[in-house]
Amino acid sequence: MEDFGHPADDWAADDTEAFDLCDQCGQVVAGPELLSALVPDSSALHPSDPGLDGRRVLTACTVEHLAELVEHYRDRPFVPEEQWAGKVCRTLAGQDEPVPLSLVAQLSGLSLQQAARGVEWHNARAREWQARYGDLAGADRDDEEP
Ligand SMILES: [Zn+2]
Repeated sequence: MEDFGHPADDWAADDTEAFDLCDQCGQVVAGPELLSALVPDSSALHPSDPGLDGRRVLTACTVEHLAELVEHYRDRPFVPEEQWAGKVCRTLAGQDEPVPLSLVAQLSGLSLQQAARGVEWHNARAREWQARYGDLAGADRDDEEP
């Protein structure tokens, strides 16, 4: 089962085996052919480096698709409260016990006021969602507005 006729030694030996998806059409693109751009996006949180929060890496298969993606994010407002809410949520996700907001702020790299405004923004969105979709919140997020 381990031999399908590929030259086993070097066909996947280098770093060109990386693949990614076009954010516009979903097509699989090989790493070397992938086009990318960095855009401001207040909903973007870097998984490990808070210094890269608020920026989204877009990947695309063609220049046209990359341009459409960049255009989309150019029209999206950058909302600082959204960014702070994301940082607070990320911090809370790493806590087992309830923690005071002052500590959450400190762990998130925010001022207490920023953390409070982030929480308020998050809660306001949750209330909006519930008012609109009732108790089915979270059941279907596919039609979330961009
Ligand atoms: Zn594409």
